[in-house]
Amino acid sequence: MDYGIKGRTAIVCAASQGLGRACALALAHEGVNVVINARGADALNATADDIRRTTGVNVQAIAADITTPQGRAEVLAACPAPDILVNNAGGPPIGDFRDWDEAAWQAAVNANMVTPIMLIRAVVDGMIERKFGRIVNITSRSVKAPLADLGLSNGARAGLTGFVAGLARQVARHGVIINNLLPGPFMTARTADGLRKRSAKAGQDYDAFARARMAEVPAGRFGDPDEFGKACAFLCSAHAGFIVGQNLLIDGGAVNVTM
Ligand code: NAP
Repeated sequence: MDYGIKGRTAIVCAASQGLGRACALALAHEGVNVVINARGADALNATADDIRRTTGVNVQAIAADITTPQGRAEVLAACPAPDILVNNAGGPPIGDFRDWDEAAWQAAVNANMVTPIMLIRAVVDGMIERKFGRIVNITSRSVKAPLADLGLSNGARAGLTGFVAGLARQVARHGVIINNLLPGPFMTARTADGLRKRSAKAGQDYDAFARARMAEVPAGRFGDPDEFGKACAFLCSAHAGFIVGQNLLIDGGAVNVTM
């Protein structure tokens, strides 16, 4: 299928590895020029080289902290009028709610709610004027079903989800389509780190602990970031214009809900 977005330009935030990288790569495979971002320049530049080599699109790498006004300004200066915006940032730490003081909450709300909203605010009017836009926010399955040790994610991402539900319905008539993609357990560095911490806390061997978590997923495995990237590229495609303000779980069936 031709996704109908060849030659378009995308900003993909937090994309040197993991889910963000997979989204950038999948968009690039559809002929989209990408501006990718992460804090660490070395990994980011290596990813930019990979994407250029494998897809031939234009790739700009902006090493900056997307959760700061300055970082966002640097990314937007490189690409002031994107056709596509993929919002992503590092997830908050796992822990007990008693561990999180006001500063921890402010950091989580800033990274996982305010940052994507500020980026949407910066680009959405241009998309409306040009009568085309696609915005995908990488959130989490925690939005549909809370994860006990991820209270910061449960809370902060719910705020973004509420905002997007309203805005998506205001801008859809202008060809600007906003949706959220909710990852379940994908095998990325973040997931491996979380498994290490949880297995240590439970006093269990990492491999046995990881296998047990995998067995809990109806698909019987963790997700491959590539699967996530391809779903993101579809939501950014010309064919996704009637999918408005949705929260799409990609979780191998892990969240046990009917709808
Ligand atoms: P990951 O493998 O740890 O990758 C995170 C990426 O974000 C890296 O490229 C990192 O590079 C970049 N990043 C982190 N903080 C940043 C910042 N402040 N500014 C710019 N870039 C930043 O994580 P992931 O598993 O792909 O997860 C991506 C998002 O999905 C997270 O919010 C996570 O909580 C959420 N999520 C993931 C899963 C899963 O199964 N993987 C499930 C549910 C939700 P630098 O460190 O160099 O900046």
